[in-house]
Amino acid sequence: MDRTDLLIVGAGPAGLTAAIYGGRAGLSTRVLEAMSPGGWAARTDRIENYPGVGAVQGADLAARMLEQAQSFGAALLPDEATTVVPLADGFETRCGDAVYAARALILAVGTGYRKLGVPGEEELTGRGVSYCATCDGPLFRDLEIAVVGGGDSALQEALYLTRFAGRVHLVHRRDEFRAARVLADRVRSHPKITCHCRHTVARVVGGDAVESVVLRDTDGGRERSLPVAGVFFFVGLEPKTAFLGDLVKRDAGGFIVTDDDMRTSRRGVLAAGDCRVKTLRQVSTAVGDGATAAFVAQKYLEDGEW
Ligand code: NAP
Repeated sequence: MDRTDLLIVGAGPAGLTAAIYGGRAGLSTRVLEAMSPGGWAARTDRIENYPGVGAVQGADLAARMLEQAQSFGAALLPDEATTVVPLADGFETRCGDAVYAARALILAVGTGYRKLGVPGEEELTGRGVSYCATCDGPLFRDLEIAVVGGGDSALQEALYLTRFAGRVHLVHRRDEFRAARVLADRVRSHPKITCHCRHTVARVVGGDAVESVVLRDTDGGRERSLPVAGVFFFVGLEPKTAFLGDLVKRDAGGFIVTDDDMRTSRRGVLAAGDCRVKTLRQVSTAVGDGATAAFVAQKYLEDGEW
């Protein structure tokens, strides 16, 4: 089994930036990715707050990051890490039968969507229940759909879905949106979006496909049916860190605890991007994390500095 200097787990903006910096610093660098590269950014239609590039399609930005990482010699491995085993002089990362050894590790595993856990959600997933607007939005051309949540994801994706749907019903449990003000203003004034604040989805109803959602008023608990052909849940994100076991310290939500320089509780292991405890989860902050993590990894590999 060969061994690289640096193994990066996850090819979102944090992982790809770490790969650019690692490769450019002359470290032998591999990036493991179970899905397509780019993370959430690649599945976001429009990114307009990443400096210097104006409004850009997430998939385009991600493709350029990957190309840049590969141009500096980083190798992309399409595989899913299932366990990490610490060795005396590094780490073995297992992906089924394949094993990748590296002297230092950067965890940039990102987050996955959280399920709401209401009746009908699981059963109708893929038949009208979705967690990805860019993947499934075009299926709902001229139809009425619901979007659940009040954060950046829900509002951004609700706006995107107006391109296809005849009407988007935004269901949020409070009056105030957690999302950025600019998104909230756009949603409130959009002619194709109807906001159902102070409501939750009690259940999703359908046979072969979604036919309606039952909304529950958060004040009195009254229920009413809203006929929709689809429902998109954006009720938060969970870090994909369960496979790490006790390798590094995590908070109660599973996010990895780091210092300001991305060092985790374990020597030789850094974390970057949305999977770590932090205030702001954006492409711009992920990129900064990735650069710092690779720089600190380089110092560790060269001088043993930690
Ligand atoms: P989030 O910020 O955690 O928002 C989740 C939303 O779901 C909240 O509005 C929350 O309501 C609601 N929710 C949670 N549990 C619920 C339940 N049981 N029933 C009903 N509603 C529930 O998640 P996110 O929007 O996916 O964003 C995650 C991170 O990514 C954030 O840091 C965000 O800023 C970032 N992000 C940024 C962008 C961007 O910059 N354009 C885009 C996407 C994501 P409450 O508000 O009442 O808690």
